[in-house]
Amino acid sequence: MRRLLPLGFAMAMALLPLVLKGYPITLLSYVGMAATAALGLVLLTGMGGLTSFGQAAFVGVGAYTTAWLTTVAGVSPWLGLLGAMATTGGLALLLGGATLRLGGHLLPLSTIAWGLALFFLFGNLDALGRHNGIGDIPPASLGGMALRSANAGFYLIWVGLGLAMWACANLLDSRQGRAIRSLRGGSAMAESLGISTFRLRLSVFVIAGLLAGLSGWQVAHVQRYVSPTAFDVGPGIEYLFMAMLGGAGHIFGAVVGAGLVTIARDVLQDVLPKFVANSGQLEVVVFGAVFIVVLQRARGGLIPVVLRWLPRATRPPPPDAPKLPRRAQPAAGTMVLAAHGLVKRFGGLVAVNDLSFELRAGEILGLIGPNGAGKSTTFNLLTGAAPPTAGRVRFLDADITGEPARLVAMRGLARTFQHVRLRPTMSLLENTMLGAHPRGRAGMLRAVFRLDRAEERQLRAEAMAQLRRVGLGDMAHELAGNLPLGRQRVLEVARALAADPMLIVLDEPAAGLRRPEKRALADLLRSLRAEGLTILLVEHDMEFVMELVDRIVVMDFGARLAEGTPAAIRADARVQQAYLGGVA
Ligand code: ADP
Ligand code: MG
Repeated sequence: MRRLLPLGFAMAMALLPLVLKGYPITLLSYVGMAATAALGLVLLTGMGGLTSFGQAAFVGVGAYTTAWLTTVAGVSPWLGLLGAMATTGGLALLLGGATLRLGGHLLPLSTIAWGLALFFLFGNLDALGRHNGIGDIPPASLGGMALRSANAGFYLIWVGLGLAMWACANLLDSRQGRAIRSLRGGSAMAESLGISTFRLRLSVFVIAGLLAGLSGWQVAHVQRYVSPTAFDVGPGIEYLFMAMLGGAGHIFGAVVGAGLVTIARDVLQDVLPKFVANSGQLEVVVFGAVFIVVLQRARGGLIPVVLRWLPRATRPPPPDAPKLPRRAQPAAGTMVLAAHGLVKRFGGLVAVNDLSFELRAGEILGLIGPNGAGKSTTFNLLTGAAPPTAGRVRFLDADITGEPARLVAMRGLARTFQHVRLRPTMSLLENTMLGAHPRGRAGMLRAVFRLDRAEERQLRAEAMAQLRRVGLGDMAHELAGNLPLGRQRVLEVARALAADPMLIVLDEPAAGLRRPEKRALADLLRSLRAEGLTILLVEHDMEFVMELVDRIVVMDFGARLAEGTPAAIRADARVQQAYLGGVA
């Protein structure tokens, strides 16, 4: 049923002009134009976690580009479409390249800054007609027929929007789309999976710009005039409101939000003057109130609320696909990872102090120590999450000291997180497929045209196999957020395995697990070792470590306190002392 929704929606929209005439069709055209711009924000904000108040400015750039090209330069509106998307896409590339590295609230602030700057330009450039804008823009034409009527404009807009929605839906259901949807989980997680978050954010930024360009083109050639006021930061905030109201996590959120806001404004502008004198712009107050209620009651917007009432889509098990190629594991006993004299200082605090140890292929090494001993910091130095102050790290035959986490991951070192990092709104299967990201090749363009399906089947089959291996196979289509914490940790192991690693580094995997779950995890890790995988276990839980690992390195105050077999460590007086002193 859920799968038929888009088709039913498209058919209903196609038939609407047969039943509705005149003004409602014009109003729905406005809905479509706004939805096209808001769709860009669904991708950018809802999926990619980047907030932009400047979308209306981009719509303006697109609208003015095609308006100028078709009136002054005299080119056809279809060339104007190319021009509009080229300028908005190019501008997004420039502005995104310059601002996307800004963290936290600096990025949204910078979008306000250039949103205002562009608005100022539109109103003050003579070539763009200053505050009067540009009028007499020719309509688009098809086969010699000018698309001048209200119905023609309606179809022009909604066919474009429909295609854009189809392309975005295809993109999001792909290797790169999953990576985009993982961005909200923070850079550390995505980078640890071999994903270049900067490049990906920039791509999403450009896609949002292209959609703004399309929306601007629709405005210019359906409305047939452009003026600056529609492209201020105010309308930019409104596009964001539309996306969030409808549901920024869903393609259809843009349409629902744009529809509600556009139609509600129209109704309110009719109704409010009957009750209040001087009611100009009073609808903004209503919108403000609605926004607060939405934030309180339905933070994900309206679509998730509606979806809760629909039956869940049942998915067939993934079809068999040729297996992804696997790396050759190093021969048992070869050196896999070596730390030489690692030091990490935080100001005056020496968190890791001249630490050295080696890890050989096919063994499980436990790194233990009391709280604050420096285990997690060591973990970060080994996996590229932080650079060491001094010392070297070798992985197989490469020196990886100071290499970023993404490149370390690509070499075949997979990790899990002490505080679980999963995408709660993605299924177990999709979360695991994220782990296999570096093993795929398909880019965004292939995804948009669904030319990536063969590879997708392979990634899916691989993820399914890993889920079965860790005992989560029968829950593959559940949302990761619905799992209890213990099983989320196991899901992170499946995600790490999907990368086909040579070394897997686990940060406190047994924390929060119940006894039978711990036993199952230990069995899993043993079977992985039997298959030739090398495992480094950073763990607090002595009992869990003792019965599982081959060797133990004990840390205390950042330095190596002892090293040896579990039996030797258990008998070591210094270790007992350290653990009795701390909280084991
Ligand atoms: P463990 O994982 O063994 O409990 P950590 O590696 O988390 O220990 O911490 C070791 C020490 O380094 C602690 O004293 C901790 O407060 C300090 N530390 C860890 N990360 C930072 C940081 N980013 N900035 C400052 N101090 C830190
Ligand atoms: Mg820790």
